[in-house]
Amino acid sequence: MPTYRKPKQSDITEWLIFIGIYVATITLTSFLLLGAYWYVWFVLVAGGLFILVLWHKKSTAHHCPVCGDEFEITCLTNLFSPHGVTKEDDGWTYLKCPQCKNRAKMKILVKENKKNHTTHN
Ligand SMILES: [Zn+2]
Repeated sequence: MPTYRKPKQSDITEWLIFIGIYVATITLTSFLLLGAYWYVWFVLVAGGLFILVLWHKKSTAHHCPVCGDEFEITCLTNLFSPHGVTKEDDGWTYLKCPQCKNRAKMKILVKENKKNHTTHN
């Protein structure tokens, strides 16, 4: 049974670094590859996005403010759901709760990975 916790500042920094690397990579490679090799660039963009979504899905869960249920969502749902951040720096995703079927801004939680807890710096 995985446990979930509120994202810390370090988690948010980590997410921003990953997204930053992705954006920087596609921006830089667009100068080199757009033109004759546009399809290589397209694969890079799609592949990178897929990895980001997959990784985000693997490391996060959502908390329903209505019934308190904690659940994980599929990559596709994650990709097409609106995301945002509240004034309190809490991340949210607008989703339908699998438990109570309410649509709400679900609070993003971080999945505690007990197996690799020695790897974090
Ligand atoms: Zn619910």
